[in-house]
Amino acid sequence: MRVLIVMAMHAEAKPVVRELGLKPVETPPWAAPVPMRLWQGQVGANEVDLVVNGQDSETGLDLIGTQAATASTMLGCEAFTPDLVVSAGTCGGFAKRGGSIGKVYLATDRVWYHDRRVPIPGFDLMARGGYPVTDFPEIGRRLGLKPGVVSTGDSLDLSDEDSKRIESVGAHAKEMEAAAVAWVAGLFGARFTALKSVTDIVDGPHPPEEEFFENLNQATENLAAKLVGFINELGSTA
Ligand code: SAH
Repeated sequence: MRVLIVMAMHAEAKPVVRELGLKPVETPPWAAPVPMRLWQGQVGANEVDLVVNGQDSETGLDLIGTQAATASTMLGCEAFTPDLVVSAGTCGGFAKRGGSIGKVYLATDRVWYHDRRVPIPGFDLMARGGYPVTDFPEIGRRLGLKPGVVSTGDSLDLSDEDSKRIESVGAHAKEMEAAAVAWVAGLFGARFTALKSVTDIVDGPHPPEEEFFENLNQATENLAAKLVGFINELGSTA
């Protein structure tokens, strides 16, 4: 199977590139103006491609959020025609739903937006996303991955309005890319899943921007290890 991994930050992607033995590939000429970067490799029975959002030309910082994730996924799908798209990265977890630092969730059910509010019939539903996730319960069990509902928004903090929507879907993982990746994957007829490793506890005592960097290393190493396991398991069962 051909698997496209979509990631936001280079720090998150580094251990994944290392563990999967991926090699950088040239951006196709038609995508020359975009900052996204591509890697490729063969992992067991699967061809694995990786697209990383790249850096913002103004600030030099990694591009995060749904805008860059949309362009990344479009580029990856155009370039590689994947069967399965995986949004991989870090997330905020919820202590009240069993979240803890370094735990890795495998997406289940649907992936939602929590910060798009349009109170007009029809548009209200469209704004919430709710894109389908392909479940891999067997693989999840074998690798000890918790099934988690993922919810996406473009802010690191948590507003009361966002919180209401997160609660209404019982999300385990709050992050900033997955729903955008799922939407584009769906347009290209690819299946979608997400692996998200917890860097911070949303309902804990510390602000996410402090916890995030403290735990980034541990969370990304766990993520890379689980992602390698996931890809290897795909070869034998999916
Ligand atoms: N604070 C960092 C920004 C990265 S945090 C910096 O200054 O560089 C946001 C990234 O981590 C996003 O890609 C998002 O998907 C993920 N993330 C981790 N914890 C999150 C949380 N609590 N809420 C939203 N996104 C989170």
